[in-house]
Amino acid sequence: MSDHYVKVKVQLEQMKSSSEGVEKEEADMIEDEVLVASPPASVSPIPASCTPAAQREPPKTSVTCRNQSKSRSKLGKDEKNTGTKQDSVLALQGTIVASNANSGKPVNRKDNEQQTLQIKGTGKMLQGKTETNGNTVPIHLPEDIKVGPHNKEDANKVAKRRKPVTVDTFKAKTSLEALKLSIRQLKWKEFPVGRRSACDIYWHGVSFHDNDNITSGQVNKFPGMIEMLRKINLTRAVRTMQELFPEEYNFYPRSWILPEEYQLFSTQISLAKDGDVSQKPTFIIKPDGGSQGDGIYLIRDPGDLRVIAGSHTKQSVVQEYIHKPLLIDKLKFDIRLYVLVKSLEPLEIYIAKEGLSRFCTEPYQEPSQKNLSHVFMHLTNYSLNVQSGNFVHSDSLSSGSKRTFSSVLYRLASKGVDIKKVWSDIISLVIKTIIALVPELKVYYQADIPPGKPGPTCFQILGFDILLMKNLKPVLLEVNANPSMRIEHEQEVSPGVFEYVPSPVDEEVKVGVIRDTLRLMDPAQKKSLTSYPEQEELSGSPVRGSGEEGRVLPSMCLKQVFPKYTKQFSYLRTVERITALFLRFLGVKGNMRLGPTGFRTFIRNCKLSNSHFSMATVDILYIDVTRRWASMLPGSREAGMGLQAFVEAFFYLAQRRFKSLPLREQVVSLLEVCEAQLENQGRGDPGGALPEDNTSSTRRSVSCGRTQPGRTVHPHHMSTSTPGQALSAPQLCSPATPRRALSQDYRLHQRLRPTHKGNVEN
Ligand code: ADP
Repeated sequence: MSDHYVKVKVQLEQMKSSSEGVEKEEADMIEDEVLVASPPASVSPIPASCTPAAQREPPKTSVTCRNQSKSRSKLGKDEKNTGTKQDSVLALQGTIVASNANSGKPVNRKDNEQQTLQIKGTGKMLQGKTETNGNTVPIHLPEDIKVGPHNKEDANKVAKRRKPVTVDTFKAKTSLEALKLSIRQLKWKEFPVGRRSACDIYWHGVSFHDNDNITSGQVNKFPGMIEMLRKINLTRAVRTMQELFPEEYNFYPRSWILPEEYQLFSTQISLAKDGDVSQKPTFIIKPDGGSQGDGIYLIRDPGDLRVIAGSHTKQSVVQEYIHKPLLIDKLKFDIRLYVLVKSLEPLEIYIAKEGLSRFCTEPYQEPSQKNLSHVFMHLTNYSLNVQSGNFVHSDSLSSGSKRTFSSVLYRLASKGVDIKKVWSDIISLVIKTIIALVPELKVYYQADIPPGKPGPTCFQILGFDILLMKNLKPVLLEVNANPSMRIEHEQEVSPGVFEYVPSPVDEEVKVGVIRDTLRLMDPAQKKSLTSYPEQEELSGSPVRGSGEEGRVLPSMCLKQVFPKYTKQFSYLRTVERITALFLRFLGVKGNMRLGPTGFRTFIRNCKLSNSHFSMATVDILYIDVTRRWASMLPGSREAGMGLQAFVEAFFYLAQRRFKSLPLREQVVSLLEVCEAQLENQGRGDPGGALPEDNTSSTRRSVSCGRTQPGRTVHPHHMSTSTPGQALSAPQLCSPATPRRALSQDYRLHQRLRPTHKGNVEN
């Protein structure tokens, strides 16, 4: 047992005895998911040799001489790093695993939870998780704590048999440094220029399509993720959920899509102002697909937008500005959290226990006409603030303009904030957001990797950007499909001379995330999980897989949150059930749009037509909805009904059939009808529910369906928000314009199909 482990254990014991008993596990996730943070003073510093920075090879330093103003283009697009040194602050990863030597059983979650301590009087929570970074702390764990082979002998035998996991890093781009470190720590095998035979894992820097010749193994990107996380598509996905579950999805600021909803936006705001002149909200305009704060500006009057909107060709989202953010030292800050989507089916989500906090560099004031253009006050982007003379490059992980999230939580906890609640709300926000994205991702997935066709499986690390409001409520700002995994940053060593130097704060967080993602994706680990379905092991205990035998890696910095919390969230997966219907009638031909015949088959097989709702009416519904969506995407080449249009039509059908119920119940009721019908047919009439070839019918729909574009916004939508509702600030709710089919023409709310555009690392 290492000295460090002993020290930490002793500290834990002391904390336990001072806390008058262990707090019992509550059924609620809040209890279970406390981010653990011990005050810096209470822990022994991790020896520098244990940090990833110390383990890495000497950095290859590139030196550039040029103007400082050009430096941005050389940096990673999303995170760029400050030069900080490792300090002794406890990060959130790492679990002291309870020695359970007597039982001879693997330590399970309950064992760990029993170490959760309540420090009396402060509200601070401490679990038994006290390593600094979870990266390389040499804790010697009891031999019985394993996943996979049960004893050392078995493990050694298996180790001899197993080949190291192979990773193709050819396309890794800016993640390369952190990836190399991780592979080295795991003793896996890297293929830096690819490999003729297949690798186990392919690491792409940008997109699933970085390499289109992969037919097996696992790729670290999902098809369609970049598209789904563009600002407009994220807004649409969340909005659909807001229609069904307004309370659950109120963590996303009210947003409008420009230019198509300009009229709606300006009318709603004007109406609200007429109602209460004192209300003067601020709005933030974000270009679709933008990053690093590029093109973002604030307005207080829709009139200001109108001028810009006139010449605006770019699509954007206009969003209610959160004008009362939580401040630390009078500065606004946001949180970057890393989230692993390990699989879509079944849905598996992990959250990194450590993240980054990025601070503004000018003291915050509530927006006024005078300060609207003060980007260092309102925007937390590192890429912007690093250009301010006030940017603090700190040697510590807990101070400066870029810090660990755990250090922020310590700070809050020391002021009596219930950080358990904050963390639990954040987890909830993450799970709900991913649940909103999954339906469309499944369509992309099936189009790129149809069932039965050889192809890889996918996983992906996402970067969630979250703002805490003054009342501690977390708000989702955006999700990055390609969060920067750079662990070095540019430093000006002398005027005009720049060097790339390691950035400890980034290594601290990012190497752990990549390494533990690899561990979870280890093919051997996956197999062993089949025989060890108790997923809890993965969340808090060290996991061993290929190449890890005979030595111990630190405990996981990634914490499973789904399916762990399935019970709390599964009821939100309604749109996924609609998607299952859509995919069923879409077939497996690699397309993403349903033709009219496919839609008719859906109606017929689910027995949704009758004397009051003829097949002719079904055709009109199909044409109207599809045309509306096509009009919103003039450049779209694929014709037919996309998922969002299908959801729109489904909501309409549900509302029509179950008139008196609230929308959510209408939709669930119709789902039950459809699923029951299809199940019956599956038993008695296997051919009945099969998808049809909709290729030819899709072509037909183009010729008969494309007429003049539908209205941008139907006046009916205006009635969905009263002026008072529209502006009660901050009201975290999108317009969520209900999908209403009107009389004969089924004029439904406009929505965009995701555009298929490449992305840069941001
Ligand atoms: P980008 O992808 O360009 O970084 P973001 O959506 O992350 O765009 O916004 C940039 C910054 O603007 C955020 O980091 C945050 O500081 C600020 N911001 C974004 N949306 C809001 C909002 N609704 N309320 C307050 N601040 C916001």
